[in-house]
Amino acid sequence: MKTIGHFIDNKPVPGASGRFGPVWDPATGEQAGRVALASAAEVDAAVAAAVAAHRSWGGYSLARRTALLFRYRELLVARRDELAALITAEHGKVHGDALGEVARGLEIVELACGITEKLKGELSTQVSTGVDVASIRQPLGVVAGITPFNFPAMVPLWMFPVAIACGNTFVLKPSEKDPSAALLLAELAAEAGFPEGVLNVVNGDREAVERLLAHPDVAAVSFVGSTPVARAIHRGAVEHGKRVQALGGAKNHMLVLPDADLDVAADAAVSAAYGSAGERCMAVSVVVAVGEETGDALVARIAERARALVIGPGDDPASEMGPLITAEHREKVASYVRGAAAQGAEVVVDGTGLTVPGHEAGFFLGVSLLDRVSREMDAYRDEIFGPVLCVVRAGDYEEAIALINSSPWGNGSAIFTRDGGTARRFQLEVEAGMVGVNVPIPVPVGYHSFGGWKESLFGDHHVYGEDGVRFYTRGKVVTTRWPEPAESAVNLGFPNHT
Ligand code: NAD
Repeated sequence: MKTIGHFIDNKPVPGASGRFGPVWDPATGEQAGRVALASAAEVDAAVAAAVAAHRSWGGYSLARRTALLFRYRELLVARRDELAALITAEHGKVHGDALGEVARGLEIVELACGITEKLKGELSTQVSTGVDVASIRQPLGVVAGITPFNFPAMVPLWMFPVAIACGNTFVLKPSEKDPSAALLLAELAAEAGFPEGVLNVVNGDREAVERLLAHPDVAAVSFVGSTPVARAIHRGAVEHGKRVQALGGAKNHMLVLPDADLDVAADAAVSAAYGSAGERCMAVSVVVAVGEETGDALVARIAERARALVIGPGDDPASEMGPLITAEHREKVASYVRGAAAQGAEVVVDGTGLTVPGHEAGFFLGVSLLDRVSREMDAYRDEIFGPVLCVVRAGDYEEAIALINSSPWGNGSAIFTRDGGTARRFQLEVEAGMVGVNVPIPVPVGYHSFGGWKESLFGDHHVYGEDGVRFYTRGKVVTTRWPEPAESAVNLGFPNHT
């Protein structure tokens, strides 16, 4: 059984707290390793490394920073299979999906390779006679990232490439459930030549997070995880005077109008609901079907496709969906399916009885489809974060959009239709940060920013893209004048423009 430690100053550092958490192989149900859970003193050591590194890194030329990022990109491309295999081993998602996660993370490294363009600043000459004004953006110092289990490589890659490219140094606290991918990301950064202390990984749980929030040398915190923790992180960071962006949970709705191509819509719903076993913040977890006929036809098509999915270990190329992250999480997800009928839902596909031959102890759960779900039911009200798709019936577009907008979350939302006018209305009216028109999982590309509304994001900035650059830098405006001594005079009036 392997023991996983930290990575500070470009070196592996064993845990010293004596506390460990289990790391499972979700496909076998066996414990594959244990991860060190950092004490406050160990967090302090990582922050100290980042503080020391920032003294020189902040002054590195853009040319040197981007040369390292280009090299890092090459290493990630070369080692992407290995990274994906680590993700599959600890998270459980199928290898192809893990490769997709790495590819989407690489997009942000590529964005960071082009940081020169984003940090150009602005100059206004002769704003007043002999006066120029420049707006520049500078790094914050040490920033921390706290990331969830469901994208163990991509979500860290949403954060540190942009932060580092902007001249900050970084302390990453990955999910303790699947920490190895983050460690490989840091090892590759060291191999690429990033100086010691620029990217540090400290493993841990709440204790480590609370120290990062309180540490006076941490200037900003990027968080991605569940809504209750996101809310607490936001509050804690603000109390300590830090800049914070805290992305939370979701319940993403996909609206299907009667004029949609129902085969296209069913393919999209099944892919977006059950991909990565539903453990995606952008998973479609609710389909809102407009009209009884649409609902009946759509449910039949989704059920047919759902029953045909191949569920098995993530490293088997035949598997389309892998196991859930832990046995407890599987039980929690299954409880929503078991309780749904009693609350009045129609259980069209029940995946709770699934066993995978040869992997009986793995954390597998079949896919489930619940029809005629209403907003009072637990399966609708909670983020289940598993392979359970709810179908809600709505009479018309107005009823559907009212339902979607009554959700406390506002991460992603999609509409499936061939009616451009209604699609346009939807994109303006829906209360969500990311909208898909005939696209079920509208995760923005690297040069647009990612983020939800309402309880899906606490803070002002989305991640990566323009918002990422703004989050990891602060603005400074420099007003310059080179007066001739002969023209200089005392003037107590407030400066104005001439
Ligand atoms: P989580 O909130 O349990 O954990 C996220 C991180 O916070 C982990 O690093 C964990 O160690 C830490 N943490 C957990 N409890 C804490 C506490 N009480 N105090 C301080 N830190 C704590 O989330 P998870 O289960 O790892 O991930 C799944 C959740 O993340 C889902 O709700 C999903 O929707 C959400 N998510 C959101 C996005 C997004 O972009 N909005 C993306 C991915 C995942």
